[in-house]
Amino acid sequence: MIQNCHCGFQKSFSECCEIFIKGTEKAPTAEKLMRSRYSAYVVQAADYLVNTTHISTRKYHSKEDILNWSKSNQWIKLEVLNTTENSVEFKAYFLDSNLIAQIHHEKSTFKKEKDCWFYVDGKFF
Ligand SMILES: [Zn+2]
Repeated sequence: MIQNCHCGFQKSFSECCEIFIKGTEKAPTAEKLMRSRYSAYVVQAADYLVNTTHISTRKYHSKEDILNWSKSNQWIKLEVLNTTENSVEFKAYFLDSNLIAQIHHEKSTFKKEKDCWFYVDGKFF
């Protein structure tokens, strides 16, 4: 039996998001980048989250904040609701530091530069 990746795909983490997080391959689509960024929160890969944030908005996302947020929550699952070429709407389910169930609902915007997808910003619901 295959353990699903953190992002929900029916593939192991090592065959799915870890390929992108390790830098073996570049995420080919905005959705795959978004999924790998969710998995990066699960495994606390803060450098990957910083490096895949577009340079225009990177200053708003410090490594320390990312690490704190990824550590203080228990990530339950990701649900991708809608995707276009450069946007992904999703819900991330997690328990916060008080073990309260939370849903982070966001429509993220992405930009491709020199064959690399970057997270630009998001609209929160
Ligand atoms: Zn994955």
